Formats: sequence, C-alpha cells, structure tokens
Amino acid sequence: MSRVFNFSAGPANLPMEVLEQAKQELLDWNGTGASVMEVSHRGKPFVELAEQAEADLRDLLAVPPSYKVLFLQGGAQLQFAMVPLNLLGDKKGADYLDTGLWSKKAIQEGRRFAEINVAASSEAQGYTSIPAVEEWQLNEDAAYLHYTPNETIGGVEFHWVPESGDVPLVADMSSTILSRPLDVSKFGLIYAGAQKNIGPAGLTLVIVREDLIGKTSETAPSLFDYGRQADTGSMLNTAPTFIWYVAALVFKWLKARGGLTAMAEYNLRKAEKLYACIDGSSGFYNNPVARKFRSWMNVPFTLAIPDLDDRFLSASEQAGLAALKGHRSVGGMRASIYNAMPEQGVDALISFMNEFQRTHG
Ligand code: PMP
Repeated sequence: MSRVFNFSAGPANLPMEVLEQAKQELLDWNGTGASVMEVSHRGKPFVELAEQAEADLRDLLAVPPSYKVLFLQGGAQLQFAMVPLNLLGDKKGADYLDTGLWSKKAIQEGRRFAEINVAASSEAQGYTSIPAVEEWQLNEDAAYLHYTPNETIGGVEFHWVPESGDVPLVADMSSTILSRPLDVSKFGLIYAGAQKNIGPAGLTLVIVREDLIGKTSETAPSLFDYGRQADTGSMLNTAPTFIWYVAALVFKWLKARGGLTAMAEYNLRKAEKLYACIDGSSGFYNNPVARKFRSWMNVPFTLAIPDLDDRFLSASEQAGLAALKGHRSVGGMRASIYNAMPEQGVDALISFMNEFQRTHG
C-alpha cells in the first residue's frame, strides 16, 4: 500500500488513525455483528453514537447550551438557501460580505429568497484581500450578516470575527471549522460542509442560536426547517450514518490530539513554513493574497513561468504529492493543508518545491 500526501481542497484527506479504525470496525461495529452502515439510525447503538458526536463537538468548540447542533445533508450550498429561508422572518433583506467565489455563490443563491445588500466586496481586487471594515455598508435592519471566514478558492481568511452589533452573524465555515478555537457566542449561525475538516462529503454541520429558530418560511420544505431538524435530533429523514460515524471518529481524534488550541498551533506552523517557502523563492513562486489575510488552510500559488505548471504537477504527483492543481478560476497550484495534513506532508511539499526551483529556476 502506498498513501500519498493529499492536498485536495475537498473531499480532503482524513486522519490515518480514523481510517484505520473505520477499517478495523467495518464488518462488526460496536459488537453489533454488522457494519455501522447496516444498522438503523434510530436504534440505540447509533443514537448513542450521534449523541456522543454532538457532545464531543460541543466540547471541542465550547458550544454554549443556548445553541442547537444539527447534522444535516445537502452540502454547504444548501445552506445558501436554508439560511435566508429560516432567518429572514419579517425582515426584507440581509447583508453579505463578498470576499471570494464562495461568498459570491452564497449571494447569488440568497438573492432567490431575500433582498441582498453586498456590504463590501473585494471582487475588483481579484479577491486577494478583505475590504477595510470602515468601508462596510452595513444595514442595521438586516436579518443577518453573512460572510465566509475562509475562502477555499482564493485562500483568503478572516483572522478575526467581525462585529455585527445586534444583527446575527452567519458564517460559512466549511473550510476553516475546527482548525482553531472559536468563540461561538459571537455567531447567530455557523455552517460547514463536512468534507474538509470534519469527515467525508455528505454531511453539513449547523450550529444555530436557539432564538433564531422558529421563523422558517411557510413554503420551505420540512427538511429545510432548522426547528424541525432540531426537534428530531437531525433525524427527520434517514441519517447519513457512515459519514456521521466517521465525523464522530474525527472529533475523538481531535480531542486526543489536544483539541483546537493544539490544532491551531500545528496549523499555523504548517502554513507559516509553506508561505515562507513561497515568499523566499525570489519570485519563482507567488501567493497573491495580502499577508494579513492569508489562509491557514488553503494556500494557492502560481509559478512565475506558467509554462512549467504541467511539469510541476506531474513531477509532484510522481513524488507522492497529490491534488495540487489550483482552482480553474485562479490557475496555478493550491495546497490545502487542513487538520489531517501531517506536518511531514508540508515538509515534503516544501522540499519538492525547493528542488523544483533549483532544477527549473
Ligand atoms: N462554501 C465553501 C467555503 C466551500 O469551500 C465549499 C466547497 N468547496 C462550499 C461552500 C460548497 O460546499 P458543498 O459542495 O458541500 O455544497
């Protein structure tokens, strides 16, 4: 068997220990004599797993008791619709920050359900920065303020939590959740697709303040109603049991590694050394993002000689460094270095980059 260092943006690599455990338990989970995929989501063993997963997640993120934790389906993009359908209430519109292609998609989808005020945009700067807070045109009467703390494509990250006053703050944390500690009490709602830092694709985590529940549009499908999902333990329909199980293993793995404070230290160290390699390459490699907004999780970079892109990608693949191709809208490369990317993987990438520059620079 040969495992690569997998830099995919998502579905992304999972911790080796989690994969090993899932493999070991595949045929006989928890003494049931069946795989976790083959048991009822309403049976005692699975309900206990779901409860433990929620408890571990609450522990990791110190989620206050006044918040509901939901394990939903439909991916992060379904939340682009569910958020306005649930939170608009009798308000007309909501504020959105536009800092990258995922914010933009959230805005486009949100417009189907609400009047959207784009409070600030960095599109004109090619999404390589975050507009200065003093320039944000916030609306005091907005139902919520939506933003994307980490833009997976552009590699732009908020390293602080914006102030939104009495307006509930809503965050698409798909590519940054669990990468560091978080003050959940500053948010009205947090959502995240699982396929980066939580587990396999097919699960979406929603953490929502209780007082925001209960205003769902009457025409919204029942499955889209946070209240109904909360009342049924996110089991209004058949749960994605295997994915939920893997997520539960990931939460245990994070706790065993010292929780999110330890992960933050580890993630920052990985990111800093990769950016140092790029910045120290005398322009052979380039990351266009303003330094203070650079992502810890997704590191896009281009080569000064784009003709070398294909050679870089095939040589890196041969060296066991997979999925480094950049998003088509940005070009070049992107290294996604989520929680499960070991530091040795980043070290191997840096060695490869240095050697590639030496032989092609
Ligand atoms: N938001 C962000 C920040 C993302 O990175 C992604 C996926 N890459 C999405 C939303 C969309 O997620 P999904 O495919 O689960 O709908």
